Amino acid sequence: MSLLAGPRSNRAFAPSGNIAQLRESATIAVSARAKALRAAGRPVIDLGAGEPDFDTPEFIRRAAQSAIDAGATRYTATEGILPLREAIVRRAGHMGVEVTPGQVVVSTGSKQSLFNACFCLFGEGDEVLIPTPSWTSYYEMVTLARATAVPVPGDAGAGLKVTPSMLEAASTGRTRGVMLNSPCNPTGAVYSRDELAALLECAHEHGWWVISDEIYRAIAYGTEPAASALEVAPSLDRLVLIDGVAKAYAMTGWRIGWAIAPRELSAAMTAFQSHTTSNAAAPSQHAALAALTNREAADDSVRKMVAEFRRRRDAVVEVVRAEPGLEIVEPEGAFYLFARVGSDDPERDDGARFAQRLLESHEVAVVPGSAFLTPGWVRMSYAAPIDAVVEGTRRLVSLWREMSR
Ligand code: GLU
Repeated sequence: MSLLAGPRSNRAFAPSGNIAQLRESATIAVSARAKALRAAGRPVIDLGAGEPDFDTPEFIRRAAQSAIDAGATRYTATEGILPLREAIVRRAGHMGVEVTPGQVVVSTGSKQSLFNACFCLFGEGDEVLIPTPSWTSYYEMVTLARATAVPVPGDAGAGLKVTPSMLEAASTGRTRGVMLNSPCNPTGAVYSRDELAALLECAHEHGWWVISDEIYRAIAYGTEPAASALEVAPSLDRLVLIDGVAKAYAMTGWRIGWAIAPRELSAAMTAFQSHTTSNAAAPSQHAALAALTNREAADDSVRKMVAEFRRRRDAVVEVVRAEPGLEIVEPEGAFYLFARVGSDDPERDDGARFAQRLLESHEVAVVPGSAFLTPGWVRMSYAAPIDAVVEGTRRLVSLWREMSR
């Protein structure tokens, strides 16, 4: 008889206290719904997923194939293979910062790196400041660590970005950390070097930990690359830098991210990961190694992909600008357009109503702003072919016109 048979199997599942407040990832859910509709034959334009639509560059795919043939099929060190961690150290070196391979922990996507950092740093009674809107998973990760996520609403007149005084106003004696993300998902806003430096200075003065998620750093449309916390932090003592290969190199499915952290924390994150997932997939680590070490080919691929994202960004902004009154955040990086479609009242949840109608009657998938704690907005990804992006934006604008009459 199966162990699952009998009365016990009929018991309703009762969630543990660990996940009492857990909600499914809205970004993932929208993408899954769009895929399901497409599979059912509906010609949905999927602008929900935050995922580059390009193939992983060939030289990276080939490197992974060769690595598999050469035996990269076994466990590696929990924290990742040394050549990859050394390549990550060299990247930091190009920003003028000296770190050691021991400070680097490679994980199964930057999402796991973020979770490891939150779980090892924060706990019951701690408060963590989250500039808002922010990527949906930050709030959940902090809550899963049983700390309190404290949303800090950004300035609507300044790309929904926050300033040191906004962080200070939201802080208490229990504040332990702050999550930064530039270029920002979901707004596409980019913090200038001075703005980022001011936030880091503020965190330093107050003794807060900073988790700086820089997964979109390569995708920026200004004349300079987006600034890194590594370049401007007054000290690396309480800084965790998060990055990965997913967005810059079109490698979302390979699941390789990493954290650079002070040695005691990197050791703790490694120990934690040794009990959860062990090492990130060995062939993926070799693929990431190729992306970081074959500089010429990598730079060339990134340049081409960013040029295409820029072309789409310009096209999207042109469509929106032709519609006076539709408020957006000026997209300066990443591949998102954040548009206001209603009021900030969470009860009304205008963004969700808008996104649902856009999907059901106009066959365009976008993510409701409530996923990022800004219910009056929607996020549209332009990581899709330009014709689809332009058509999707037109439909979004036309629904906005219809609903705001
Ligand atoms: N980060 C992407 C997004 O915001 C991918 C989906 C996810 O992991 O949330 O859409």
